[in-house]
Amino acid sequence: METLDWSNLGFGYRKTDYNVRIYYRNGKWGELETCSEETIPMHMAATCLHYGQECFEGLKAFRGKDGKIRIFRVDENAKRMQSTCRGILMAELPTEKFQEAICKVVKLNERFVPPYESGASLYIRPLLIGTGAQVGVHPANEYLFIVFVTPVGPYFKGGFATNPYVIIREYDRAAPLGTGCFKVGGNYAASLRANQKAHDLGYSCEFYLDSKEKKYIDEAGAANFFGIKNNTYITPKSTSILPSITNKSLMQLAKDMGIAVECRQIPEEELSTFEEAGACGTAAVISPIERIDDVENNKSYVIAKDGKPGPVCTKLYNKLRAIQYGDEPDVHNWITIVE
Ligand SMILES: *Cc1c(COP(=O)(O)O)cnc(C)c1O
Repeated sequence: METLDWSNLGFGYRKTDYNVRIYYRNGKWGELETCSEETIPMHMAATCLHYGQECFEGLKAFRGKDGKIRIFRVDENAKRMQSTCRGILMAELPTEKFQEAICKVVKLNERFVPPYESGASLYIRPLLIGTGAQVGVHPANEYLFIVFVTPVGPYFKGGFATNPYVIIREYDRAAPLGTGCFKVGGNYAASLRANQKAHDLGYSCEFYLDSKEKKYIDEAGAANFFGIKNNTYITPKSTSILPSITNKSLMQLAKDMGIAVECRQIPEEELSTFEEAGACGTAAVISPIERIDDVENNKSYVIAKDGKPGPVCTKLYNKLRAIQYGDEPDVHNWITIVE
């Protein structure tokens, strides 16, 4: 095994041994290839470079106490990538090929999967791009699917903690009938200015309201929102939110714990009524929210009154992490063990 300072790794790119690739040509996907090259030779008229035919996924592999490597809900990432492909007219990769590629790249880079005790994990980044040359605006006829991995440190280095967020009204991430519900790079390009503004103002991340009425909570930059009150888990319903697999998993765990789940519009003012709230996604699982400021409207919704993560967020966080690391039984069949 590699000897890295596992607990102090950040969230950055670190070279590993191999990536895996599958090419789509002549109307079909080819065989899975192993590659040690970090670059992609590509035609300058590739559609990913001009017309944004690009999508990605993000998931993690965890080393358990038993030394086994577990991947969390890989079939869900395969399905979401297929949905994205239908959204921006790219060739869909079948679930079995997606899973085979993920397991292979993790196995090949096994020495980079951090030890159990470190709280670190192996981040897996699948990427699908249009590589066929096209000058007119049309979908490509050739595609490349690549998966690389990189070890990442524990998200909460100083322990599970709350963060301040800010609503940005000046920029929209996605339109109501746009591509917000697909995991495409274009949404991220559209979010860079808002993200920078949030950071410049000293916040952990930006929050978006629905772009049509600017009334309802949509999501954070790269994480879904949920609020807790009256033993209920409430998460926004919107056509421009990316369906988070972490959020879907937390909804299931909440139900298992006897907490009611509601998926509905959340008006901004309702923020003042939540007992707890969190931003959820693969990176942090849950980032508990200290407060959400609406600076342009001179409002501040303080959620964690004592500045600490609440009991429901903490319970959900511990439960999901325990399943991911294999400390608790996988009753919902969410885990794939890499053999
Ligand atoms: C990836 C992503 C999320 C989180 O999804 P998970 O599947 O939980 O990692 C949330 N919002 C956006 C915009 C994303 O791109």
